[in-house]
Amino acid sequence: MASVERFMRAIRVSEFGSPEVLKLLTDVPVPLPAENQVLIRVHACGINPLETCIRAGTFAWKPTLPYTPGSDISGIVVDVGRNVTTFKKGDRVFTTATITGGYAEYTVASEDTVYQLPEQLNFKQGAAISIPYFAAYRALFQRAHGKPGEVVLVHGASGGVGIAACQIARAFGFKVFGTAGSPKGLNLVLQNGAHQVFNHREKDYIEKIREATEGEGVHIILEMMADVNLSNDLKLLTTGGRVIIVGYRGPFEINPTDTMTKEPSIIAVSIFNSTKDDWKEAAAALFGGMESGWLKPLIGPEYPLEKAPQAHEDIMHKSGATGKMVLVV
Ligand code: NAP
Repeated sequence: MASVERFMRAIRVSEFGSPEVLKLLTDVPVPLPAENQVLIRVHACGINPLETCIRAGTFAWKPTLPYTPGSDISGIVVDVGRNVTTFKKGDRVFTTATITGGYAEYTVASEDTVYQLPEQLNFKQGAAISIPYFAAYRALFQRAHGKPGEVVLVHGASGGVGIAACQIARAFGFKVFGTAGSPKGLNLVLQNGAHQVFNHREKDYIEKIREATEGEGVHIILEMMADVNLSNDLKLLTTGGRVIIVGYRGPFEINPTDTMTKEPSIIAVSIFNSTKDDWKEAAAALFGGMESGWLKPLIGPEYPLEKAPQAHEDIMHKSGATGKMVLVV
């Protein structure tokens, strides 16, 4: 194994603002792992919409400047702190958090946020597990309390969280409907767990979904774009149905009338509210999926480190998602 270098290429953010504040530096010191941490040579890092809000300075939590974004990396362990017992040099791993940021050649992560990456998944797939799959699992089971046999609509199924949600729901015995906004996206959603797909750019697609339930409505909606869809979602639910707000891009208005006849629940999900037990439960389910083969992250657009600004631009403004966006380091 190559020895660890002293300096690395990494994206640094020194001021909050537009994607151009993501600067590639070549002389960032390689971090040292503290006693419960591992140092990882990063091979890929997932890009999440949340990272654009943190970079813009509009998220509730702000990192201390300068910082390197990125929590969902995969790579190879190159050094371990003296109290680390679970990992050794050479292990293939992925993380659910990093301490020094993942848009970089090296990062350190606390041992309890690092997981072994099974051989059958490549590094890009490893970087697509954390936020998407843990959020999708939390939405479906820990927030919606979904039960096999229920009908789930993954409203926005072609991106990182959506594909994860379709794979999970299908594996656990739900009837899965997914939406996408492009022909390629629709196909991919169908290949990744959905029983039926609908185009959320078509005018009458909500009616088509209702018809597919024979007028009964769906039990659960995992909603990626609540500001656009929440009002329609409430009309599409069956009695006692639940809409889980996973994502949104702005404020929204609903008519309380739509909540009266069917007593629906509107429930938010935030992966960052997960307790240690929640992470453990989700990890057990997801590792079951990796072992039996149903958990297979679908990789969409790939960018080199220097194109991080373009990636941030695209994840917010480009439509026609085809899986998880990743940086290849
Ligand atoms: P992504 O990969 O960029 O995917 C975005 C998805 O939204 C695509 O499937 C896209 O479909 C779909 N979409 C676009 N317009 C839509 C519309 N009008 N109706 C329904 N869907 C529409 O993003 P992601 O990583 O999957 O994340 C999705 C959302 O969840 C983001 O808002 C993110 O911030 C949020 N999120 C929240 C949590 C949490 O803990 N609450 C965790 C992770 C992510 P097309 O491109 O095919 O049109």
